[in-house]
This record gives sequence, C-alpha cells and structure tokens, in this order.
Amino acid sequence: MDPVTDSLNEIHRRFAALRDGRVADYIPQLALADPDDFGIALVSMSGHTYRAGRTDSAFTIQSVSKPFVYALALSDLGARETLRHVGVEPSGNAFNAISLEPGTGRPANPMINAGAIATTALVRADGPAERFARVLDCLSAFAGRPLDVDEEVYASEAATGDHNRALAYLMRSAGSLRTDPAEAADTYFRQCAVRVTAVDLAVMAATLANGGRNPVTGVRVVAEPDAVRTLAVMATCGMYDAAGQWLLDVGLPAKSGVSGGLIAASPARFGIAVHSPPLDPSGNPVRAVAALGEMSERFDLHIMHNSGLHAATVTGAERVERDGRTIGVVTAQGSLEFTETEALLYALQGLTPPTPGRLVLDLTAVSTVLPGPATALVAVLADLVERGHRVAVAAQLVFEEAGETRPRTWEVFDSREDALEWVAGDGD
Ligand code: GLN
Repeated sequence: MDPVTDSLNEIHRRFAALRDGRVADYIPQLALADPDDFGIALVSMSGHTYRAGRTDSAFTIQSVSKPFVYALALSDLGARETLRHVGVEPSGNAFNAISLEPGTGRPANPMINAGAIATTALVRADGPAERFARVLDCLSAFAGRPLDVDEEVYASEAATGDHNRALAYLMRSAGSLRTDPAEAADTYFRQCAVRVTAVDLAVMAATLANGGRNPVTGVRVVAEPDAVRTLAVMATCGMYDAAGQWLLDVGLPAKSGVSGGLIAASPARFGIAVHSPPLDPSGNPVRAVAALGEMSERFDLHIMHNSGLHAATVTGAERVERDGRTIGVVTAQGSLEFTETEALLYALQGLTPPTPGRLVLDLTAVSTVLPGPATALVAVLADLVERGHRVAVAAQLVFEEAGETRPRTWEVFDSREDALEWVAGDGD
C-alpha cells in the first residue's frame, strides 16, 4: 500500500468533477487544450515520484517558467543587481498588468509578465540565440531531462502577443529593459512555449524545495540562497492578484500558468504540480487550486504551521556516574539549526554545575551544524572551559571550522565512551 498515491488519487477523483473555469484562448493554440486533462504529480526530497490522473500529457510551461528563469538571473547577476532591474513587491494586479514603478520603470516583480520579460532579458548571453539556449538548459536542469519547444504554441503567441510586446517597449522607453524589446518579448514567448508534463513540473518544484539541488538527478541547479529567494517571491507574488488569499489558505510558495499548470513547493518536503487547463478569473487553474488547498489542509503543509519537527533533537540530558565522578551528558541527533541548537544549549546549561564540573556533549549522531549555530556552540564551549569546567565533545564532524571564533580549548573524541573516560579522569 502506498498512502501518498492513495491520497493523490482520492483528491484527483474528488476534483475531477469540478467543471468551473475557462480554458485560456487569447493565445489561439492554447484554446485547443482538453479541459478534462487533469494530472497531479509529487516528487519527494529523496527523488521519489507519485502520480494521479494524466501526468504524462504534454503542455506548454507558460508562466510556470518565471520562477526558474528568475533563479537563473539571480545566479548570473546576484541578488542586488537583479533587484535593480526587477522588484520583489506583489503588484496585486493581473498577470499582464502594466506594473511599472513610477520614475524607474522597474517592473513590480518577476512573476508578472512585465517582470518576467525583463528577467529573461537579464540572462547573460551573447545575443538572443544563446540567451534562449541558456534558458532552455536551465529549465531542463530543473526538470532533470532535456526539454523542447512547442513550435505551434510559440508561433501562435508570437503572432498575437502584442500586449507583451507593448510591455517590453514601455519598459525600454522607461529605461528598465536591457535588450531590444522585440527580441526580449520573442525570447520570453519561446520560454513560455517550452513543453513539459506534470511530472516535469513536480521535479522542478522539488528542486526549489530542495534548496536548488535536483532530488532526482542529484545535480545542483542553483545555489541555495537563490532557491530561497525564488521561493519567497513565489510566496508573495506567484498567484497574481490572488496571492494574498492563497498564502492565507494554502500557505505554500506556488506559481501558476495560463496553460493550466500550477506548482507548489513545500520547503524540505516535496514539490507538487497539477495540470488542468480551465482557469479562474485570476488566471489560476481551478482544479489545481482546489486540489492543493485540500492537500495543504490534510497534511498541515502551511509554511506558518509549526510541525514540531525539532522536538527530537536533544535525545538525552542526564547525569552519569563514572569513577566516582558526576558527569553531565547532553546527547543530540540530526541537523543543528537555530531551534535545535537553542534546545541543545538550554539542556547543557541545565546540567552545568555552579562550581567547576564535568560535561560531555555527545554529538556522534549529529549530521550537520549550520555556521551560525556552530559559532554559538563554540562560544559556549570556550566559556565553559574558561570557567574551569572539564569539557569533552564526542563527534565525527568538525563543526569548529564553521564557527571558528576562538581557539579550541575543549577535547574532541570520536566516541561517547572515550569522551566520558577522559572527562572522568584528571590528566590530559
Ligand atoms: N505566455 C503567457 C503570456 O505572457 C504566459 C502568461 C501566464 O501563463 N500567466 O501571456
């Protein structure tokens, strides 16, 4: 039995009956989509794929490409330079609005069309062919397979996309577009016409949720800070003028597109994608919005929800007798981030006697220590030694490197047993 697939199937069955919404037809070729196409795919951080419904139908990525190309621009230019060209404020407007900052002409954010056209134009390249090649390579790396362009959809949008072209010319006249407007719009149209399946989009979303490393191929596509920034912008701007309500109800960074794709990323958990062409008045796919709302509620996925994930970090805080000596021992496991380190240091403090005593920190089951927590840990250990305590750490990892602020004055051993033995003694 596979409970994840069961849940997806059940949600799929429930919302397949939903017949609201309209298939987009302002790009003529998109009007040919089958309104009954409906697939859900989920990819976990260990790279496992779960599916329900039609997850192999190919469709064009459209606006779901925007966060990935934004991540590429961030990689190319850095956060500060990217921000000079494209803002990060929700516009509260429709996807094709003229949301340009008065004075600078800078588009409000990279998730609306104006911002996306400007973002694509930021991608480093010697000319338009190379620029699109880099966009396609990036989308392919996120998906973990080589993607291609639906030439018919591209031609259809290129033939009718005057509104987007107009946005590009407006930005150019305001001084906020880097390249030729016609070329910028054309590269953006090709980007929107890249062909994907729901499974591709789920892998792409999972890559963002996994801090920029594709969990299926193992390839790092973008640096973690760029993945985090992209998710943040998706959280505030990904659902156009419904972004506020979405964050309130569903609480996941997400991005929708006019061909009926919708991705959401549950950070450090999974990426999910739904494909269903009929759209609501905000341009978001009706069944996908309903399905993700249900998923979020059922599994408590809201990012503001406290999952209690950190509770099991400190697995022991005890006083141990050894050779007639009392030793305070704190044991921890997993990854030490802010919350975990706070719990660890709190437990250590509770076992520290008022007069010089003996302490062991057993970190043999700790896998990683983030740099900030490592600095805090190093400072606390140094302070304990300065106050006359005999302190040993049992650990396989060298966490001092990350937080090196003072010379190491405590002892480090490979095993808990060696640490206890040394602390119980009097010599070096
Ligand atoms: N190519 C589409 C457009 O620019 C993308 C819009 C969308 O998916 N919301 O109109």
